[in-house]
Amino acid sequence: MRVLGIETTCDETAAAVVSERLGGGGGDILSNEVLSQIAQHAAYGGVVPEIAARAHIDVLDRLIVRALANAKVELKDIDAIAAAAGPGLVGGVLVGLTAAKGLALASGKPFIAVNHLEAHALTARLIDPLDFPYLALLISGGHTQLVAVRGVGDYHRLGSTVDDAAGEAFDKVAKMMGLPYPGGPHIETLAQDGDPHRFEFPRPMLGREGADFSLSGLKTAVRQEIIRLGEPTEQDKKDLAASFQAAIVDVIVDRVRAGVRLFSETAGRPSGLVIGGGVGANGAIRRALTRLCAERGLRFVSPPANLCADNGAMIAWAGLERLKRGFTSDLGFAPRPRWPLDAIASETHHGKA
Ligand code: ATP
Ligand code: MG
Ligand code: FE
Repeated sequence: MRVLGIETTCDETAAAVVSERLGGGGGDILSNEVLSQIAQHAAYGGVVPEIAARAHIDVLDRLIVRALANAKVELKDIDAIAAAAGPGLVGGVLVGLTAAKGLALASGKPFIAVNHLEAHALTARLIDPLDFPYLALLISGGHTQLVAVRGVGDYHRLGSTVDDAAGEAFDKVAKMMGLPYPGGPHIETLAQDGDPHRFEFPRPMLGREGADFSLSGLKTAVRQEIIRLGEPTEQDKKDLAASFQAAIVDVIVDRVRAGVRLFSETAGRPSGLVIGGGVGANGAIRRALTRLCAERGLRFVSPPANLCADNGAMIAWAGLERLKRGFTSDLGFAPRPRWPLDAIASETHHGKA
């Protein structure tokens, strides 16, 4: 079984072909083409929706051709065409969705609408034959949530951020320090040479009931410290980055702990913890979660950085998981700029995505 996946919800245009690995479970990535638009948005300090949509149109057709060629397959060898239908910027989603529907119509193959967050949550199973149910930590530029993944199409959100997403916090703090967008990787690099104990930043929600996150207070505390410092020196910036990152790691670890507890109350013991989303590339977060899982006797599945960030393989894989279960979509499926994961469950039970 082979699926072509298309991703255009934000600022990465991506197309990939993934196949099912028979026997051991998991899948094989036959091709995974990603073109980032970061350079086109950098001057604006964030993603500009109109520029994003046009940039997807400019490159998507060639990217699909390349994904098929590098996978050494033709459209006739593909079993279904999947595209992210949301959540995300409607203009971009429309580009990917329309391309996928066109290919499905022309080839007579099924079309599968994939929820972008579902794809982040299922990516772990592409690289590791992990069983349901498991706990997924989704941390990206637009989302921060803990999800009980009970099966394909069966998700229960245990907690989410009440204000900023983790990536947004990294990006905003980076911007305050004059670092380019997206700032997450720059903060991580600076933090490596900084003192994580120099500034005592707040750890919002620590120990709080439930599994929600709050990160805007932390960001504000960093802003106040920068104002107090006046002109931060290079060493100040390194210490700010390290202290900020240490605080966010503490918050994430505490919230994952709370998530594991909540999970046990609703869905039994999780088979493991997985991460997804661009912030999942952060080494300090990965190390802290590795420690936590070792402590708890939980398996920790952390996809490599390129599979944490937005990519086509995750959409293809989610499409493959759906196809295996007969969850294909109608060609009339409309873009869903907002599409919470919990909403999927009731639809999937009717056999339609
Ligand atoms: P969505 O929320 O819809 O998934 P997105 O496109 O913003 O959207 P991703 O592309 O998955 O999400 O992630 C991008 C985010 O990840 C940016 O905020 C970026 O700063 C952050 N990021 C990437 N690498 C790192 C890192 N090493 N440390 C911290 N943050 C990082
Ligand atoms: Mg992105
Ligand atoms: Fe994403």
